[in-house]
Amino acid sequence: MQLFERLIEYSEAERLVLQSTPRLPVEEMPLGEALGLALARDLEATTDSPPFDNSAVDGFAIRSADAAVGRVFPVVDEAPAGRPARKSVGEGEAVKIFTGGVIPDGADAVVMVENTSGWGESFELGKVPSPGNNIRLAGEDTRRGEVILREGTEVGAPGIALAATQGYGALPVYRRPKVVVLSTGTELVEPGTRGLSPGEIFDSNSYAIVAAATEAGAEARRLYAASDEASALRSAIEEALETADVVVTSGGVSVGEKDLVKSTMLDLGVEQVFWGVKFKPGKPLFYGTRGETRLFGLPGNPVSAMVCFDLFVRPALMEMMGRRDRRRPRIAVYFERDIVNKFGRLHAMRVSLTRTERGWLAESVGAQGSGLVSSLTKADALALIGPAAEGISAGEPVEAIVLRDEKLF
Ligand code: AMP
Ligand code: MG
Repeated sequence: MQLFERLIEYSEAERLVLQSTPRLPVEEMPLGEALGLALARDLEATTDSPPFDNSAVDGFAIRSADAAVGRVFPVVDEAPAGRPARKSVGEGEAVKIFTGGVIPDGADAVVMVENTSGWGESFELGKVPSPGNNIRLAGEDTRRGEVILREGTEVGAPGIALAATQGYGALPVYRRPKVVVLSTGTELVEPGTRGLSPGEIFDSNSYAIVAAATEAGAEARRLYAASDEASALRSAIEEALETADVVVTSGGVSVGEKDLVKSTMLDLGVEQVFWGVKFKPGKPLFYGTRGETRLFGLPGNPVSAMVCFDLFVRPALMEMMGRRDRRRPRIAVYFERDIVNKFGRLHAMRVSLTRTERGWLAESVGAQGSGLVSSLTKADALALIGPAAEGISAGEPVEAIVLRDEKLF
């Protein structure tokens, strides 16, 4: 049996993870798949946008110098969007035009149809336009050569719109990490396949981790639940290593006799960065590297697995993708009662948040056992309670990691 050689602090563990996380290669990602990824270089406008002077309204293009209330204009041609007029606008003439239509030669203003006698072969002008009225000028949105989106920007819907106006069919982004998730434990049964025999439980971790990794922007896939038997574990981890940028396992990483994940990883050439963090929930967390691949051995207790994923794996995935917002927001919270931490290590306490006149009130979601999956669904934040014997007094500010941003608004 192997015991923890040296437990490190949470902040040290986070630093070691981020420091050893590589940025993934740049890929040209089709526009439709780039959402949430970060730009790997500045993006320049390829053309002026809009590319040509065009009408902002439905109406008539005329020469403003000819305009007088009551004057009748013959309509000599039309310019719907996508089909420029063939004729130019001569003195006293008009071209029927629709929103987005190219301003015909000769015209320097567009009159809204509402300011005329209406559609027809001619119309009477009701209101005199100034030069340039209702004309959207070429390049008024963006100019060719101008930087339209900066390196590091997370691509959102507006960015996709802007890139598309410039004809980009793909964007240079750091690619999504490929995450392979492997749960371990002889007791595990696939949900939905059959009922439980004595001693068995359903595998919830691997599904939760795939979901959380997908939410973080990764391309995550679940392998299967491997038994605690050495050879089964070895071939499962080998298989995960074949395709993954990041391997995430759950279970089998503590000091029990059946906890073979760490030794198997080491046998497979993984270099240990750390094993054991002075942190609750998640003390047995293992982190190692093999070449460019990163491996996280999360503890099996579902709360530990999810909290460790959030605090260590998620920032690493975001770092790989060049995301600037890799850490969750942190706020100061307070408790109404004194809080004692008897664990001798930092406690990331699951709390709910309520906004009060004094700030954010944190309340424990209830029992903090590492197996209580239901507690996770109630937690808005993790309050970081240091291992001080005297604990935290009521009203004292405490740092908390916000899990649900929407709570803040
Ligand atoms: P371990 O870290 O393997 O000692 O597991 C700790 C606890 O977590 C045990 O009660 C396991 O049955 C449970 N556990 C391990 N893996 C999973 C999983 N994939 N889903 C749900 N519970 C698990
Ligand atoms: Mg186990």
